Amino acid sequence: MNQIVSDQLSKLRRLPAADVGDPELLNRLAQRRSLIVNLFLNWLAISIDLVALDPRHLEYALALRLGGVTVLGLIGLGLNLWSGNKALQSAVHAAMIVTFVGTVVTIGQWANEPYAGRYMMVALFLIFCAALLSALPWRMTQIMTISSTVVYVAITASGLEWPPALENFDLVVCAVVCGLLALRGRRRKDIQIAELEAIRRNDAQLQNSLRQANEALSKLSNTDPLTGAFNRRYLDELIEHDAASIVPSLGQGVLMIDVDHFKLFNDHAGHAAGDRCLQQIVAAIRQSVRPSCDIVVRYGGEEFAVILPGMDLPDLLNAADRLRRAVSDLGIRHPARGPDHVVTVSIGAAIAEPDEGLSSAILRADQSLYRAKRTGRNRVLA
Ligand code: GH3
Ligand code: MG
Ligand code: MG
Repeated sequence: MNQIVSDQLSKLRRLPAADVGDPELLNRLAQRRSLIVNLFLNWLAISIDLVALDPRHLEYALALRLGGVTVLGLIGLGLNLWSGNKALQSAVHAAMIVTFVGTVVTIGQWANEPYAGRYMMVALFLIFCAALLSALPWRMTQIMTISSTVVYVAITASGLEWPPALENFDLVVCAVVCGLLALRGRRRKDIQIAELEAIRRNDAQLQNSLRQANEALSKLSNTDPLTGAFNRRYLDELIEHDAASIVPSLGQGVLMIDVDHFKLFNDHAGHAAGDRCLQQIVAAIRQSVRPSCDIVVRYGGEEFAVILPGMDLPDLLNAADRLRRAVSDLGIRHPARGPDHVVTVSIGAAIAEPDEGLSSAILRADQSLYRAKRTGRNRVLA
């Protein structure tokens, strides 16, 4: 089970991280891009005006492009770069687009064919692209698209004449359809982006709960439920990892600890009292070792192993004796061994040399423990 969850997690980790930036900043950058592109298109179009217009109209066209579109575009760019007022930024940006559309349609009225028709088409294209790509908020996009369409329709239908010419109704219909389609496209895009965001958020929550479940599972599978110490399975993994490591380990201290006469304790005090006694012993051991690096393992029954990295033998014997005293200082009376006897432990110690595996050091510590038992118990031997 634990393995399955780990596999799922590593698969999830291999997925490319979604490029989720600050949405406000991304939106501001998109608006900036839109303003710059529109400004460039406006300036580039002057080269076509030079060909398509007579000198008098060219003057008006330059006035519209430089005095209207460019000024609004540069103000919009300045606000985008330096102002925090988002409503004003959007309003100036939208006004620039409406003016741009109006300028192109107006110049289209002055231009000769075949240019005139092209100006009108470009203006329709501008209305459509601005709704989809300008990154303005939805309300401002509606105002901008409707205003651009109204300006387009008014100029195209009137032909800039008084009384109005009231012609080009094919283009008027095109403009209305184009404006509606642009708004519909933009709305759908917004909905799809919102759905994607929701999926992404859901995904992140799922990953989080999977990670938590995995952590809880791995903790459960490595821990002895009675004492809270690591279990034998964890020690086996440690031994396996140690054997596979190509980096020679610095000396690791190993202690094998066994409770003295514990069978008698159980027989007299009962199994429940025996359990409580084991819990107290483990708590005392864990309090007497370095919490950041020493590992306390329930090796089996009433036997424990402690791994203490980076120790030499004198340090290890000191630490072992500290543990031994910590247990006897608990003062748990041993019911089978007279009123003066408390529960004690015997400890075997060994240092795993740099070229020696952990399992071999555990074996040597176990042999020392055996000798400690034979020579009287409640002692440390190496
Ligand atoms: P020695 O000093 O030679 O180690 O004697 P001992 O009686 O401690 O050793 P022995 O191996 O004969 O007995 C170990 C006892 O530990 C037997 C068993 O009842 C007890 N024991 C093992 N696991 C548990 C446990 O989880 N809870 C309780 N209450 N007792 C346990
Ligand atoms: Mg024992
Ligand atoms: Mg034993």
